[in-house]
Amino acid sequence: MQKIKKSIAIIVGTFKLLYKSASFYIIAMCIANIFSGILLSLGIVIWKNIIDSVQESIKSGRLDNTIIWLVIHFATILLQALLTEICAYYKNILSTCTNKNITQNVLDKISKMELEKYDDVSFYDKLKKVNEESTARTMSLLNSVEMLVKGVSVAVSTAMILFRFNPLFMILSIIISIPNLIINMKIAIMQYNVYCDRFENKRYIDSIKNLITAHENVKEIKIYNSTPYFVSYILNSYKKYIEEDKKIRKKFVLESFSMESLGNIFIYFLKAIVCYEIVIQKMSIGSLTLYFSSIDNFRSAMANIINVMSSMFEDGLYVQSYFELMKDTETAKESGRKKKFVSEFHKIRFENVWFSYPGTQDYVLKDINFVINRGKNYAIVGLNGSGKTTLLKLLLRLYKPTKGTIYIDEIDINEIDIDSYYKEISAVFQDFIKYPLTIKDNIGLGNVAEMNNLEKINKAAAQGGILEFVNSLPMGMETHLQKEWSNSVELSLGQWQKVAISRAFFKNGQIMVLDEPTASLDPMAEQDLFQKIKDLTYEKTCVLIAHRFSTVRLADVIYVMKNGEIIESGSHDQLINKNGEYALLFSVQAKGYFEDCE
Ligand code: ADP
Repeated sequence: MQKIKKSIAIIVGTFKLLYKSASFYIIAMCIANIFSGILLSLGIVIWKNIIDSVQESIKSGRLDNTIIWLVIHFATILLQALLTEICAYYKNILSTCTNKNITQNVLDKISKMELEKYDDVSFYDKLKKVNEESTARTMSLLNSVEMLVKGVSVAVSTAMILFRFNPLFMILSIIISIPNLIINMKIAIMQYNVYCDRFENKRYIDSIKNLITAHENVKEIKIYNSTPYFVSYILNSYKKYIEEDKKIRKKFVLESFSMESLGNIFIYFLKAIVCYEIVIQKMSIGSLTLYFSSIDNFRSAMANIINVMSSMFEDGLYVQSYFELMKDTETAKESGRKKKFVSEFHKIRFENVWFSYPGTQDYVLKDINFVINRGKNYAIVGLNGSGKTTLLKLLLRLYKPTKGTIYIDEIDINEIDIDSYYKEISAVFQDFIKYPLTIKDNIGLGNVAEMNNLEKINKAAAQGGILEFVNSLPMGMETHLQKEWSNSVELSLGQWQKVAISRAFFKNGQIMVLDEPTASLDPMAEQDLFQKIKDLTYEKTCVLIAHRFSTVRLADVIYVMKNGEIIESGSHDQLINKNGEYALLFSVQAKGYFEDCE
């Protein structure tokens, strides 16, 4: 019952969505379908008159009445064909408008989504359901609306014919349809439950399929010959699904068949009564066809209405994810920030910040006290997993501290308008995006408003150290990247990193955040780049995570992290003199270089 209530609420919501997307077209489509339904019943009445007039003509030898009825019938057929085309036209426009509306709403809402949502498995399921099902299901609901309107129109007009013959006929026909509706709804609920149960695994299968077919993965997949392992996992999942489907379907075959047969017995019983009445009341053959066709049309209209209602119920369950997603993001929107970020800020300060990722208990950051002054360069070092990237994520307000506060000039970072903050941040992450676009666009996306300013793009490419390479390519900046696309080139990881760094330079934000952006560059190139960042950003603030001490030593202040805590800070010389963790890490790396040189 709860599910039915929810589904009705969703169907109403979907109608509103359809109405909002293109109100004129939905009304026009409904009106055209009502006329089309009435015309169908009118056709049966005209057909009765044709048969009756043919019978008259046999007696009188005159065909003029028959011809008039035939012409009228022909006119209704033409009109019916016209209405069908008009309905298809309206439906097509409505479908495109609704698609556009859903896509716009979803993309708009997702762009406002907090990063912590992405750590939630159910969010991914919801997102995939929306992408995979909601649009198609909304279209299916649109088809259902059309069929429902037409079905009701046919049912009402044929019911009027049957009502004149015997009111009980109509009532009985409605009652006999109810068990079918219940069975269809039961099937829909069961199918939806199965769909939900399988969803995460299906998503997993899709991600495996993408993984084994992605260009960058092919070499490793081939060497390790891992495809058969994945294929067998996928096939076993499908085998399991087929068995489950068989069980569900078998259960309903008998029930559906019994209901269908019951309906047929009832229909033939009604037809027998019609024959009896026709004989007793000496009615015409035309009347016999009229009532037979009305019974058949009424029944198929009722069957259509039932099917449509159960498929609407089913579609409603799927479209639910769309409405849930919209609700989720409404919360994110409500908490919009107020104070604008000022690019001339003095300092950013972490005060006793603790953090654990959503859904986990352990603190990844513990009691962090950390200051960033404008115009200075900072490096964060530490072993893998010590919490460096997490610290940056909090600085970028991608997550909120679990305990403690981050201040920007004594204003809680949560009170700052996030768009104004991001406007001043240039960032390069370890897993930066490799856009399947031209080099120009890959860099230009750092500042969409200036995307076509080739002069600035060239300057940023020079700063990122990639311009010389780009100029050596036949298509230069217009070269498409990623080998999966036509006329493209594949870059080495180091070259990709330079493109991502150029993108950050192109954005030219006040704060530069670099999370191991140079891991694939050689030490000389990395050092050269950081020096360039220092020179270029003498007025700007830079926070860098790096492993090579040749680069790290250039920073004004170095923070050393271990197990989620900042255990040391200071300049390179101060930390070396301290002879602590930093000095230890430095000596291990220096030894490596020393041995390499031997
Ligand atoms: P580092 O950058 O120093 O290598 P990270 O900040 O990436 O370290 O990770 C610190 C710890 O947080 C690790 O133990 C890692 O497993 C965990 N972690 C990172 N991202 C997430 C996440 N999204 N959800 C849960 N735990 C995470």
